[in-house]
Amino acid sequence: MTTLSVFQTGLNTLNKAGEIGEINPRVIDILQGPKRIQSFRIPLKKDDGSFEVYQAYRSHYSNALGPYSNGTRVMPNLSLDEVMALSLFMTIKHCATDIRRGGAKGGIVADPAKLTINEYERLIRAFIRALSPKGPWGDAPGADIGTGEQAMAWMLDEYEQITGYSCPAAVNDKPPILGGSLGGEPATGRGCFATIMDAADQISLPIKGSKAVIQGFGQVGGVVAQLLHGAGCKVIAASDIKGGIINEEGLDITKLLAHTTQTGSVIGFDGSDALGDTDIFSLQCDIMVPAAVQNVITEANGSSVKAKIVVEAANGPITTEGDKQLQDNGVLVVPDVIANAGGATVCHFEMSQGLSNNYWTLEQVNSALDTKMHDAYRDAANCQKQYQAPSMRIGAWISALKKLELAMTLRGWV
Ligand code: NAD
Repeated sequence: MTTLSVFQTGLNTLNKAGEIGEINPRVIDILQGPKRIQSFRIPLKKDDGSFEVYQAYRSHYSNALGPYSNGTRVMPNLSLDEVMALSLFMTIKHCATDIRRGGAKGGIVADPAKLTINEYERLIRAFIRALSPKGPWGDAPGADIGTGEQAMAWMLDEYEQITGYSCPAAVNDKPPILGGSLGGEPATGRGCFATIMDAADQISLPIKGSKAVIQGFGQVGGVVAQLLHGAGCKVIAASDIKGGIINEEGLDITKLLAHTTQTGSVIGFDGSDALGDTDIFSLQCDIMVPAAVQNVITEANGSSVKAKIVVEAANGPITTEGDKQLQDNGVLVVPDVIANAGGATVCHFEMSQGLSNNYWTLEQVNSALDTKMHDAYRDAANCQKQYQAPSMRIGAWISALKKLELAMTLRGWV
């Protein structure tokens, strides 16, 4: 069986949700592709005198709900298909969480590990010059794989040097000293945890004493593990790209985070056994959090999932076939467009803070984030029920598409 491209998988979900949710076909037609794709060739003189040209993209998917915003990947195997898919997902995430912003994604096909720090800075600045973003009401880039606070600080600085005035809201995911939001880094993990609590509530699963497994122990997986542990859940297994570990009595997450920081991996953690060849997704548990990469629960292992809840912290960790198997087995899947929307939500808060020049406390950010996540979950669950959708994924997309339909209708587009 051929694996669908990630963009095609997204379109299939869009079309299915459009049909079940009785969305105006003209809206679905508009959403079959990005409104605009920009493609750049960025020349870079390397420190050693050599020369290379880097391919870069920015996909503006939809601005029906508001200005384009978010995500810039810098990775060697980045494809246009992936950029388009992520810009579609960003559009749906903003709608599902009721944020008045459109969806965009960009990226540079380059390996940051193969660039010196000076080359990397020049490449990031050149990307902003090529993109010539139009500010918070036009297109505000954010961070993603291969970009972090430092890269976003350079993007902001380059933007402000071009325009000649300060505008912190022009770029997301900046360091707080330059107008970034508190609570931005752990936001996706925190938002994901909020949806786990809602899902547990929906199926009357007590979190205290429940068992969870987490694939991917990075920025998102680590925060989810910490919050689950704090709520009395036993995180019995965790894995990263180097391998996995298990302790049926529950891992000490505080010590595991320290171990990971020190060694760069979960493997070799005291008080745990190596998972070896065991598929982490076949473990007996209540809650499963894929927080690493796409396409990890598939036709091959979907039927061996024993969890009651699977929460998509990563983007697209379940293939269409895997999803069908989970559905058939009555597993509650919280879809990525809700489960990992916490980061996009706090980016929106970051922009609001920048535009008003009024910066929030961490408590304000967290409380507003929790409210947005619970509301998004409730809207998706309600849409699933109202339209008798086969999954919460379709419910979430219907909830988003209803808002796009209203916005496009009022704008006179359809
Ligand atoms: P990260 O780089 O901090 O951590 C990724 C983790 O996954 C690492 O522990 C890594 O070793 C592990 N990993 C990578 N490949 C793996 C594999 N094949 N098998 C097992 N483990 C593997 O990344 P992150 O920021 O935590 O993001 C995790 C996922 O969440 C990604 O899919 C990302 O696109 C998605 N996401 C992240 C955010 C965010 O705010 N960070 C927002 C939305 C979605």
